[in-house]
Amino acid sequence: MFIVKVVMRRRFINLIIKNMQKNCKKCNLNFEITNSDLEFYKKISPKFWDKVFEISTPTLCPECRQQRRLVFRNERKLYKRKCDATGESIISMYSPDKNFKVYNSDFWWSDKWNPLDYGKDFDFGKSFFEQFRELISDVPKMSVVVLWNDNSPYVNYVGNSNNIYMSWDVLDSENLYYSNMIKKVKNGLDLYDIQDSEECYESMYSQRLYNCKYVNWSADCKNSSYLFRCYNLDNCLFCFWLSNKKNHIFNIPYTKEKYIEIKNRIVLWESNDLVKKYFEKIKSIPKQFCHLRNVENSSWDILKNVKNSQNCYQSIELNNCKNVLIWFNMNDCMDTSIHNPNCFLDYEAISWGELKNAIVNNFCWYCNNIYYSFECLYSNNLFWCTWLKNKQYCIFNKQYTKEEYNKLVPKIIEKMKIDWEWWEFFPASLSPFWYNETVAGEYFPLNKEEIINQNFNYSEYEAPFPKVEKIIPANKLPENISDIPDDILNWAIECEISKKPFRIIKPELEFYRKHNLPIPHKHPDVRHFERMKLRNPRKLFDRKCDKCGVEMKSTYSADRDEIVYCEGCYEKEVY
Ligand SMILES: [Zn+2]
Ligand SMILES: [Zn+2]
Repeated sequence: MFIVKVVMRRRFINLIIKNMQKNCKKCNLNFEITNSDLEFYKKISPKFWDKVFEISTPTLCPECRQQRRLVFRNERKLYKRKCDATGESIISMYSPDKNFKVYNSDFWWSDKWNPLDYGKDFDFGKSFFEQFRELISDVPKMSVVVLWNDNSPYVNYVGNSNNIYMSWDVLDSENLYYSNMIKKVKNGLDLYDIQDSEECYESMYSQRLYNCKYVNWSADCKNSSYLFRCYNLDNCLFCFWLSNKKNHIFNIPYTKEKYIEIKNRIVLWESNDLVKKYFEKIKSIPKQFCHLRNVENSSWDILKNVKNSQNCYQSIELNNCKNVLIWFNMNDCMDTSIHNPNCFLDYEAISWGELKNAIVNNFCWYCNNIYYSFECLYSNNLFWCTWLKNKQYCIFNKQYTKEEYNKLVPKIIEKMKIDWEWWEFFPASLSPFWYNETVAGEYFPLNKEEIINQNFNYSEYEAPFPKVEKIIPANKLPENISDIPDDILNWAIECEISKKPFRIIKPELEFYRKHNLPIPHKHPDVRHFERMKLRNPRKLFDRKCDKCGVEMKSTYSADRDEIVYCEGCYEKEVY
């Protein structure tokens, strides 16, 4: 009887814990803290001098936490300004109206300056965030996040790549223009989330493409254009749900000769009606409720090889994770955004990779046991530091011995607990960026009033467009690329949508000529945001499968026009 009572009591307690509800202190929405959340907070709570400093439950809902992290990342807005070390003109993600010292990346990586020169003692009379704000304002910043690149001055978050231009989040690539979320791509333009591909144009969410244009949600395709969810195709046009085929147009097979004849005719006829017909067809075919591949006990969208992970989005190789946005290869992590591999036991972080045991960090790489730090690299055991590389046992950019460090850290945590700062991510006001130049603006668009009312940073600063003598409206450009003279490089083109002028560069012109593509009529920003509009909202909605009626959660809300099927119905329809 006693045992039964104990078991019943435990079950009852578990039930209460499972259903722990909190109100978000920002949006006031209700959110749930589960039993496994509590286990995770316990697991990552750090220990100093045998005392565990518990991570408490969050005060914001997962979505507000995501938004708060994203205000710390500016990927696309780049400006001209002066390097505060060398005086030269540089490209930087920090607009010139900001009062920070900014060093060009080469100087920043050099030993010609020492971030420990800015070290401070912790002042127990002031709050942590107040003092950290002073420190991050003082320490010079890296102009753009770049490493091991050649001939790629106008980029951000790019590594190990050559000849990259106006692109963000790029690794191991070359000859790439106006693209985002790219790994191992050679010769590409206007791409989003593409890997291991070559000679590609205007494509999204695909892998292993060669000589492809307008290809979405596909893999292992070559010499093809306008594909949707296709695999292993060669010489195909306007196809969907097709695998292991050659010489198909609108999913109909042709002889090789006939295919080439039709394809050549389409190029000559500019293909507008057929493109329209293709997009109408794509709109009309049923959509999968979410894009999941090899996913076990996990939720949300665009996941591949994911196990036991909830509320994760656009991620690969996750295990036991929660509230993760754009990531690959991660175990036991929660509340993290954008991106990179080999992370374990990390909580509340953005723009990072190769981290173990890390809590509340912004852009830290290759670090262990790092807490409340900004932009630290190849370091261990840091508390409240910024822009340090190859350091350990530092607090507020000041060097301590291991013993001193382990004595002082607990005292500062106790002070943070009193100020309700321990376990909370950095307040949005600490971000060095305006809300409207960060990725938060892309995921959670707000107008000026909303930005200000929600206490995010705001500025109307716009980089002046460089003076150009010759501007041509886009609709005045010759349609055929063979009629475009080299002199176009000396002109600015006026975007037909935003009226903002833009230029094209020589390798870009060569790309259009090689692939027989017209000069774009839209500014790169307009093209980027049009691609972003093709993404579903980053929300799960309750809706029914349009075939079997089963209740499900989908990124397609119930009021949208698309026909949406559950996993089972979709599989039956496609295969
Ligand atoms: Zn909220
Ligand atoms: Zn169904």
